[in-house]
Amino acid sequence: MEPFDQQRGRVQEDLRGLVAGDVRCDEVFVHLFASDASIYEVRPLGVVRPRSTGDVAACLRYAAEKQIPVHARGAGTGMAGESLGPGLVLDFSKYMRRILSTGPDTVRVQPGVVHERLNSHLRKSGRLFGPNPATSSVTTLGSTIATDGAGSRWLKYGSARDHVQSLQVVLAGGDVMEIGREPLAPGASAADQPRKRALVERVSAVLARHADLVRRKQPTRGINRAGYNLAGVLEPDAGGGGYLDLARLVVGSEGTLAVVTEALLATQPLAKARGALLLVCDSLESAARAVADVLPYGPVLCDLADRRHLSLARENEVRLDVLVPREAEAVLLVELDGDDAAQVEDRMERLADELCAKKRLAIGSRATTDEDEAELFLSLAAMAQPGLYRMKGRSRPVPVVEDMAVPPECLPGFLVRVQNVLKTHQVTGSLFCHAGQGQLHLQPFLDLTSPDEVARMRRLADDLYEQLFEAGGTISSEHGCGLSRTSYLARQYGDLYPVFREIKDAFDPQGILNPGKVVGNDPDLLVRNLRPLMAFPSPTADRAVEEEATGAPALRNLTELQMDWEPAQVADLARQCNGCGKCRTQSPSQRMCPIFRILPAEEASPRAKANLIRGVLAGRLELTSMTGDQFKEVADLCYNCHACRLECPAAVDIPRLMTEGKGAHVAANGLAFSDWVVTHLDLLAALGSIVSPVANRLLGNRQFRWVLERFLGIAQGRKLPRLHSRTFLRRAARRRLTRPCRSEGPKVALFLDTYANYFDPQLAEALVAVLEHHGVGVFVPPDQRQAGTPAVSVGALERVRRLAAHNISILADAVRQGHHVVTTEPAAALTLVREYGYFFDDEDARLVAANTSDATAYLWRMHTSGKLRLDFRRIETTLGYHQPCRLRALEVGAPGENLLRLIPGLKVRRIEEGCSGMAGAFGLKRENYRTSLRVGWGLITRLRDPEIQAGTTECSTCKIQMEQGSTKPTVHPVKLLALAYGLMPEIADLLATSGEELTVT
Ligand SMILES: Cc1cc2nc3c(=O)[nH]c(=O)nc-3n(C[C@H](O)[C@H](O)[C@H](O)COP(=O)(O)OP(=O)(O)OC[C@H]3O[C@@H](n4cnc5c(N)ncnc54)[C@H](O)[C@@H]3O)c2cc1C
Ligand code: SF4
Ligand code: SF4
Repeated sequence: MEPFDQQRGRVQEDLRGLVAGDVRCDEVFVHLFASDASIYEVRPLGVVRPRSTGDVAACLRYAAEKQIPVHARGAGTGMAGESLGPGLVLDFSKYMRRILSTGPDTVRVQPGVVHERLNSHLRKSGRLFGPNPATSSVTTLGSTIATDGAGSRWLKYGSARDHVQSLQVVLAGGDVMEIGREPLAPGASAADQPRKRALVERVSAVLARHADLVRRKQPTRGINRAGYNLAGVLEPDAGGGGYLDLARLVVGSEGTLAVVTEALLATQPLAKARGALLLVCDSLESAARAVADVLPYGPVLCDLADRRHLSLARENEVRLDVLVPREAEAVLLVELDGDDAAQVEDRMERLADELCAKKRLAIGSRATTDEDEAELFLSLAAMAQPGLYRMKGRSRPVPVVEDMAVPPECLPGFLVRVQNVLKTHQVTGSLFCHAGQGQLHLQPFLDLTSPDEVARMRRLADDLYEQLFEAGGTISSEHGCGLSRTSYLARQYGDLYPVFREIKDAFDPQGILNPGKVVGNDPDLLVRNLRPLMAFPSPTADRAVEEEATGAPALRNLTELQMDWEPAQVADLARQCNGCGKCRTQSPSQRMCPIFRILPAEEASPRAKANLIRGVLAGRLELTSMTGDQFKEVADLCYNCHACRLECPAAVDIPRLMTEGKGAHVAANGLAFSDWVVTHLDLLAALGSIVSPVANRLLGNRQFRWVLERFLGIAQGRKLPRLHSRTFLRRAARRRLTRPCRSEGPKVALFLDTYANYFDPQLAEALVAVLEHHGVGVFVPPDQRQAGTPAVSVGALERVRRLAAHNISILADAVRQGHHVVTTEPAAALTLVREYGYFFDDEDARLVAANTSDATAYLWRMHTSGKLRLDFRRIETTLGYHQPCRLRALEVGAPGENLLRLIPGLKVRRIEEGCSGMAGAFGLKRENYRTSLRVGWGLITRLRDPEIQAGTTECSTCKIQMEQGSTKPTVHPVKLLALAYGLMPEIADLLATSGEELTVT
């Protein structure tokens, strides 16, 4: 047999000649597609990102010829490993993401279109695509169709299959065809398409032969998407006509029958009014019994959360305490809609009365038609996610039996059975039910690093499914069967199961498309291909021995970590990522990864970074890959903004993982010269400030900027701030601020970092003025050096270590003398508070971290403790405020914005357009300039709003970006405070734009 690597090289070369899209078969890249939100991992042979249906057809022809399996993939958020496999992954999410046409009640899309994007497009014309998977902000329509996706609103909208009118598909041999309701009358269907005609004839024959079996085993009532959906597909009429709904059959087939390249979908009108009703119950059983009384009211949604789910949700959402009393054992959440709010309110009132007063199934209720409050109620399912994903210890919620459904009337009894099974196996778990449709999202807590727990998982699934089958339920209601449920399909369907095989053979006789899923014969599939979760051997343990003992891949013995931590800590962080894919969002309502936002490709996602590190630790990737170019290509798609750490439901510290990764690369390969430049900006600024008049003239000269770009890598187009000849440190020395304060009372050690020292000493002056206005003593440690934030971002960790050691020793002394460290640069604050801790975990480092604040946070604290003076003058202007990512990462709220709101006359408009795109020195570099502008474009555009007279932000590099595309100045909040206190009237000149004078009275 051909060695794997050789095969990969050959396949990559062949396919690059056949398709216009991307073809990647290298080890690092394919590893990013080896996992999803399931518990599995299978490394594919290669990844193809088609640009067109032609690309897909070419790829499938090639695959058929070479007998290589093909696995279609959208966002890779499947919980059952549906898109994983050893062949070629067809990733639709990068290029095939166009909404092709929109009609009055239909829309035609490519498979990579993200569900939420489609619905915001349709909302403009008062319509929507009804089925609502909880992963709407990331999941693709191709996958929603392939898994027959549904969501909490199934009661009203059903699942994808109810809305697909026709599909353009590519079959295993590469044939492209449009499929829908195919007429059965002889010669009526596709007379000119022999492959399609043969398919229609063969599938109709199979379904006609087994019509009785299908009727008995696959009732059309109730939610069920396990296996192929054969019910309602063949609709013959008495005269030999009728139709075969091929599209309906392909929906839910998990990419095993055909690859979808376009879809024509029906759309529905948006409801005019809606309301949410929360019913509090004192037992799970009452809540489940109440469902039968809710259904006659025609709810859009009827969900049930148990006590554990509620307490996890409370951890994340304090407002829940007001809504749901602590003694609640369960809540039922009901959504009703209608033509007007009064009618919806009336129905909610009657329902609440029936369940609380008459039937006594609920002990309290709360109803709302307010949009925001309704949204809060309806986000109950998502609220528990962080609590679930951030669980301490080794046990994790495991998605394996999370998709069961029973007829809703059987739910109360079935819930009791579920609890008994869990008790028997001594397993706890969290439960959330779409009770109106009898669906149970149950995630048992298991530690899959232990072989015993893996065996327990299997026994648990066996027993739960046994109970489920007795209750007439289904193993899959919306998530798919994939690797975790396929082996149970035969038990669910009995003699109908072989019919699935006949259908598969009709479409894909060679078994090319996503083989092993839906139709398979591996009884152990549930426990095969488990994602290595890494058992932790002692550092000296023998890997092979350890693996044999635990049955799980052992943690690679990484001895040369770049930062001050243990391999087990790295592994713990990396395995915390469950692959949920939430970090692939481009939703404007979230502030997730700015890089993914503009480059929506898997390698740009935070998840990819965690996968890489886990791959290395688990031995799935060569250790040397960490120092290779492919690793760097992915690592460079992280600029250390910390947004993902804050937004990720599992709080995975991707920036820290990437700092380690980049550090390893630099340790092996050295620092690129352009990176050396950005990590030594303080040195360059120091030199420049000595000859500042000349330097500033040169920085304004196009030819010189060309030279600067060519040789130092600083983008020619980037507006740069002017250098000052008298640095703030020199000014401070003259004012004797460079001696520690001896005074009693509050005192501050001012940490300048590069910008305030060399480029904007006025900012430091403003802070000193404001502090002194409050009687706070100021000390400017004379030996301080830059914080080293850019060095952290590029992985120049030796330099960070040196800078950190130096600054910590100076600042720790200052803290011991009673100073609090304050800086006008949020990025520097984050480096001091958090990133120095990557390298030093000693008393001094902890002291500095605990006693450092961004200047605005320090001043806001003074305000909240009643110590901030409010003798402000009026400033009549409107400012656009941008909150920097690294200030958010300090988790101190928006102190600068809050302070500005205290100034009379000053109007502050918060600009919620995400990251500015500068990310410290990232946006300065030639190779990042365009990306940086694209990331920051929303912010720049909002600043052009005529209502806004100037920008304001705490971060110096965000300021550079805000001024890049606008003639309006951006001014630090501290300077505005100094102006408002009347301490520095000259600051008004900064704000006088377009010849308009600023009024300060
Ligand atoms: C936290 C969480 C909550 C979830 N909630 C829901 C929910 O409420 N409702 C729900 O339905 N699901 C839910 N899911 C499951 C999953 O996200 C959805 O099934 C989703 O639709 C999968 O989308 P994806 O783009 O990530 O698909 P992927 O995982 O990439 O693929 C899913 C399947 O679709 C196939 N596929 C993809 N594109 C094509 C194509 N063009 N042609 C043929 N086959 C294709 C793949 O082969 C695979 O079988 C949830 C998952 C998570 C992690
Ligand atoms: S990094 Fe967080 S959001 Fe992204 S996939 Fe992992 S757990 Fe989900
Ligand atoms: S730190 Fe920022 S750039 Fe890096 S992965 Fe997270 S969100 Fe993306």
